[in-house]
Amino acid sequence: MSTERIKVYKFGGASVKSAGSFRNLAHIIKTQGGERQLLVVVSAMGKTTNALEALLHLAYQQQDFAAEFEQLKDYHLQVLHELFAEQEHRAFERLEQLFDLLHIQLRGITPNDNYDKVYDQTVSFGELFSSAILHYFLEDQDLANTLIDSRKYIQTDSNWREGKVDWAWTERLIRRDVPALLQQGLVVTQGFLGGTNIGLTTTLGREGSDFSAAIFAYCLGATGMYIWKDVEGLLNADPKHFSDTVRYPEISYQETIEMAYYGASVIHPKTIKPLATKKIPLYVKSFLNPEGEGTRICDCRFEVIAPAYIIKENQCLVSFGVKDFTFISEKNLGTIFNALSELRIKINLMQNSAISFSICTDYNPERLHRLIQTLQDQFVIHYNTDLRLYTIKNYDTASINRTMEGKEVLLEQRTRTTFQIVSR
Ligand code: ASP
Ligand code: MG
Repeated sequence: MSTERIKVYKFGGASVKSAGSFRNLAHIIKTQGGERQLLVVVSAMGKTTNALEALLHLAYQQQDFAAEFEQLKDYHLQVLHELFAEQEHRAFERLEQLFDLLHIQLRGITPNDNYDKVYDQTVSFGELFSSAILHYFLEDQDLANTLIDSRKYIQTDSNWREGKVDWAWTERLIRRDVPALLQQGLVVTQGFLGGTNIGLTTTLGREGSDFSAAIFAYCLGATGMYIWKDVEGLLNADPKHFSDTVRYPEISYQETIEMAYYGASVIHPKTIKPLATKKIPLYVKSFLNPEGEGTRICDCRFEVIAPAYIIKENQCLVSFGVKDFTFISEKNLGTIFNALSELRIKINLMQNSAISFSICTDYNPERLHRLIQTLQDQFVIHYNTDLRLYTIKNYDTASINRTMEGKEVLLEQRTRTTFQIVSR
């Protein structure tokens, strides 16, 4: 089956947050999708994933979650009412069914469950809701489409909340079915979700829908992947923090990977590699201005590019000191790294001195607590929370001055291309 003309579109939560945004999405598909074969990957509506995390938390603590549950259900039903004039529409039945399943899932949770495992079985509902709505809505708009369950295609191990993809198996399954389905019309599927070989749900990490789309694009050998966002493309800073952002019209895979690594929230970090491997260009475009040029991320190279400002919030700086009057040894470092790896704590920045070793990491109270428990016999451990990690890629003096202004710096590090500080 020819896969030459396939495109993959990914729509994030902001692009499906209301009935109006679903209509806009259908309009984009009609006007931009062209005659190509199109696979559409969709995230949960708006802030649904956060809402599901909150529901899970309540259920896990054995607290009442009825109000929060109703609120999430109302939000989805409200959108359905606005999208489907006919109140008997099958979409209502399907959503009721899915919400019933979510309710059963939540009720069954006990404090003894493996949290990360139930997380995946629960939080995954957001994408099941949104993809079902999208499927019926596009159908109503005369956009024939098949809804497929990405958990049956993206196969992962059972590394809950960050399923590791079995590429060979995933590719085989996708190529077996999807090209033929694309011959018949659009294919709609969920972002963020994967499945294990025994049929359990996994997720690919928060904001993982970009990665899902890239997995499909890779396996299908797509001609392009498109991420539709509420910004004009890939910007050099988050417009929430900066008023004078610039858009990169074109940028390399490498630069983008590094930006994502440092915490630019534009694209999920794992998205680029599969695309770069097959040289599939990634377009970042605005769903508010679909005609806009956007950004093309591809196999290109530029000598000079605008400094990128990246801010990672909610950081924690942990320092490990030795208890006797010796220095931090490689053996000490080995012990620390092992504990970090066991607890899946990712280092965003690290620094070593004679008597202490410091890491900056995303603040996760549970994991930090476990880290301290594991290592407190061997090290004196201090930590600060509520910090930010500022990174400037391709910095210059002006960009450093701007970033440092008025900040209390707890840690600073600089390489040839990157400048970073941890600060309050
Ligand atoms: N809905 C998931 C999240 O909010 C995945 C995604 O949006 O990419 O993290
Ligand atoms: Mg999202």
